[in-house]
Amino acid sequence: MAKRRFERDKRERRTIARERIGILMGLAERASLGGKGARADRYARLAKSIGTRYNARLSRDVRMRICKGCGAYLAPGRTARVRTSRKMLCVTCTACGRVWRMPLKSKGGKNETGQR
Ligand SMILES: [Zn+2]
Repeated sequence: MAKRRFERDKRERRTIARERIGILMGLAERASLGGKGARADRYARLAKSIGTRYNARLSRDVRMRICKGCGAYLAPGRTARVRTSRKMLCVTCTACGRVWRMPLKSKGGKNETGQR
């Protein structure tokens, strides 16, 4: 019984963690748009560390916005280069130069990159 209670708490904490990550990413976006790149990076790193601490998986949108190499906030066109090639999405961090690829979903025919 004690275990079940613990499990529920864990799930609640994870929900709160996700909420906080969402708030931080919103702040990061605003900071980035306002030209405060260093602050945006800090928000992004905080969001990442909250995800790690509470074992909350970051959503695809959030994962695409944080560099896996240096933890910088990735704003396509400013701090990240986004390209498509062979049905893959290539994201390059302009701060550390790390590149990673992810497959583009063909279902629905929607352009998921949002940018060209
Ligand atoms: Zn980076």
